[in-house]
Amino acid sequence: MKNECYIVRDLLPSYIDQICSEESSRFIEQHIATCEQCAELLNQMRVEFDIQEQPEIPTRIEQKKPFQKIAHFFNAQKNFTKFLSISFWVALIVTVGFFIYSLNVLSELNDEREEAQGIEQQKQDIMEKTFAVLSTQANIDEIALQAVFQEYSGQLEHLAVFSTENIDDVTHLQGNPTYTFPIDYSQAILVIGENGKITETIIPNDYDIGTVAMANDQWTVQYEYQNSYLETIENAHQIKHYAPSNWIVFQLPIVFIIITAFILGGWIIQKRITKPVENILD
Ligand SMILES: [Zn+2]
Repeated sequence: MKNECYIVRDLLPSYIDQICSEESSRFIEQHIATCEQCAELLNQMRVEFDIQEQPEIPTRIEQKKPFQKIAHFFNAQKNFTKFLSISFWVALIVTVGFFIYSLNVLSELNDEREEAQGIEQQKQDIMEKTFAVLSTQANIDEIALQAVFQEYSGQLEHLAVFSTENIDDVTHLQGNPTYTFPIDYSQAILVIGENGKITETIIPNDYDIGTVAMANDQWTVQYEYQNSYLETIENAHQIKHYAPSNWIVFQLPIVFIIITAFILGGWIIQKRITKPVENILD
């Protein structure tokens, strides 16, 4: 073995690791070309080096497969979390939209309810004023009755007074103003219209929501609304009897609040489940 061999053998590990300078590498290669022993040693060291490195390769391949499956699973989880978050925001927007819509509906409904209440109040007022005229006089005060009619001339077609004893059944008319199938005006003691006392024959309106009557022991009062006012009366009637409750108005937003809450709950749970592994995926 020459002196050069010792230097070369010291450098071989670095040469295999490819961390030698260019000069050293050239020196080693030139030497190995001429020295069989060092060439043999280099081969041996390379084989050992490969044996050391090789076991890692299959291990890495084996580890890669299950990790891919886990990564795939966590990606699916991540997508599901994303889906839940998008669903939550969409549901929230829809809920807010329905809520605003319901508020508008409720506001309109309240206006209509107020109008209907106004009409109910007006019904009471007309009857109260008429019965007040009837009770203060032994005979019917035509002038005072005309004054009552004039007060509501924008709404009333005519106002009639009957003697209760001439009417078959008034039990359903007692106490409160009631929409009724019109009593025949030919039986009336007095009928007041826009131009005062009406003497010609009146054909009753067959529209029962357009006719209101009320009776006490002595008198029965019946009035009819003008045709132009019937639509308002009909609307008020619909609102009073068939208007949806506030609960119904807010049914859709309530349903969506529940749906949104469920999605939010799912989202929170999902986030908690995936939180510990979140960083692995990023
Ligand atoms: Zn040598």
